[in-house]
Amino acid sequence: MTPPRVLTIAGSDSGGGAGIQADLKTMLALGVHGMSVIAAVTAQNSLGVQGYWELPPEAVRAQLSSVLGDIGVQAVKTGMLASPALVEIVAEILSGVAAPVVVDPVGVSKHGDSLLAPEAVDVVKGRLLPVATVVTPNLWEVEQLTSVKVEDEDGLRPAAEAVLALGPAWALIKGGHLPGPPVDLLTDGVREYRFRAERHDNRHTHGTGCTLASAIASHLALGEDVPEAVRKAKEYVTGAIAHGFPLGAGIGPVDHAW
Ligand code: PLP
Repeated sequence: MTPPRVLTIAGSDSGGGAGIQADLKTMLALGVHGMSVIAAVTAQNSLGVQGYWELPPEAVRAQLSSVLGDIGVQAVKTGMLASPALVEIVAEILSGVAAPVVVDPVGVSKHGDSLLAPEAVDVVKGRLLPVATVVTPNLWEVEQLTSVKVEDEDGLRPAAEAVLALGPAWALIKGGHLPGPPVDLLTDGVREYRFRAERHDNRHTHGTGCTLASAIASHLALGEDVPEAVRKAKEYVTGAIAHGFPLGAGIGPVDHAW
């Protein structure tokens, strides 16, 4: 039997904790066939991102054409797209794809390294978010995209409305950086779901955002609707965080094989 096919369009993490590597591990763990269009290559380890190089636009276009022209997709996840030109190409091609698209609007890594050129933010807002089924910003990304600053749980709803105004069908606002037990808010403007979890006292959380977005895409490909896909993806990522392990001298990755 051919499993559902899920495509990640994102950056490579040489340390294996985030990006394409986290995406493919998540997809394997959740029983879908993972495929990867690489937009950028990072030199990265547990201490941070030492450098990155984006691929030429024609290389990204060619990878997309190879995958979509033959294999097809049941869901797509986008992550680090690095430059305005790459965001533009990905948005243009995805606007012609019928499968659900989960956009992780990656801006800055946990170590504070920028993974998106400042000039690309407007292209993410104007071109990529309108083709998104679900967009999964953390609170810094919400501020980068909408200038809305979230101070507490009451701020999540206005933040979600500001993000929805940019065109995605659903917004999942990740409130994990607020004090207290982590809460994420999912809404399509009508329905609203709050997902709460226990905070794990574990600093080895590298790759959390990539893993969550890939898990949502995988569950959508497996036939769940958006709220159920997010609920199951949250369960998966919470377990992955609980089992995160030390690696190198800095922050280790979440564990996909828990
Ligand atoms: N590297 C790549 C290629 C990524 O796509 C991301 C996040 O999306 C990161 C690094 C940052 O991961 P984290 O913020 O979990 O450390």
